[in-house]
Amino acid sequence: MQNVLVTGGAGYIGSHACKALRQAGFNPVTYDSLITGWADAVKFGPLVQGDLTDREKLDAVFAEYKPVAVMHFAALSQVGESMSDPGKYWHNNVTGSLSLIEAAVAAGCMNFVFSSTCATYGDHDNVTLDEMCPQTPINAYGASKRAIEDILENFRESHGLNHVIFRYFNVAGADPDGEVGEFHQPETHLIPLMLDAIDGKRAALTVFGTDYDTPDGTCIRDYVHVCDLVDAHVLGLKWLQDGKPSRVFNLGTGKGFSVREVISHSRSVTNREVPYNEGPRRAGDCTKLVSGSVRAEKELGWKPTRSTLETMIADAWRWHQNGSYEK
Ligand code: UDP
Repeated sequence: MQNVLVTGGAGYIGSHACKALRQAGFNPVTYDSLITGWADAVKFGPLVQGDLTDREKLDAVFAEYKPVAVMHFAALSQVGESMSDPGKYWHNNVTGSLSLIEAAVAAGCMNFVFSSTCATYGDHDNVTLDEMCPQTPINAYGASKRAIEDILENFRESHGLNHVIFRYFNVAGADPDGEVGEFHQPETHLIPLMLDAIDGKRAALTVFGTDYDTPDGTCIRDYVHVCDLVDAHVLGLKWLQDGKPSRVFNLGTGKGFSVREVISHSRSVTNREVPYNEGPRRAGDCTKLVSGSVRAEKELGWKPTRSTLETMIADAWRWHQNGSYEK
């Protein structure tokens, strides 16, 4: 079985990717610091605990497992925190990724799948975003991810590192089998916070900003199911193994939902009221992030099957009621 090195395999998206890789016949080798990830979430292959800046450990992992590719998920990903502590994002995300990229090249592992974000685009006056849209991030999280994209492009030119970059829109939902799911501590994302508020696990949800230039005044996001998202990664890996050129793909559905619309869908899926109040804007939030691209469908043959808001909330709700991890 071919090994794939999955950084951040103990995290939300990485753990779902490990399941998809295993189902596709690969052995996912998780490399994770377990600072934000969970050992319990690593169920589909071995776990190596380590930091991305630990070059010796990375070299040892490449030597032991000889992975055919890297899937790089490990990163800090909170927009708000990236504005209050940008240094943490530049150190962790950029320095860590550079160390990993150098280790991959040194080991001759030349296929690299990278988890980037639509936050690299920034605010673009209510347009939908395709891969050619200028990248002008408005928060340190997006800026750190754009920098890593630049590093990958430099290493492609100079060292022949082939890469697929996925720019995610808002990832939501959970494995419908309930084996893995979303569990952040602290939690900052809209859907899990809303589900916590619904069942009284925490106080009311605060809607961050109601004076945006959108029909109902709240921010608009494009939500994509985590299982659909990781399916695209397996297709991206095959793309590289087939010798196709380095490429960037947006992963979104092209449909935008405001925070108020997400709240009203949650009400109808769970049959429960969402306790919420209205607060000020959160630093670094873009008004609208919606994908305007079908490149992943056209070129990779990606077919999202679970990315309706109802299914995403229903899968998240099922996991929320039954699943969690322990340190
Ligand atoms: N949001 C909110 N209240 C919260 C968390 C998020 O109103 O407690 C809003 C946030 O301002 C954004 C949207 O929900 O417009 C999605 O935020 P999330 O943190 O889930 O993802 P992001 O878009 O930051 O990656």
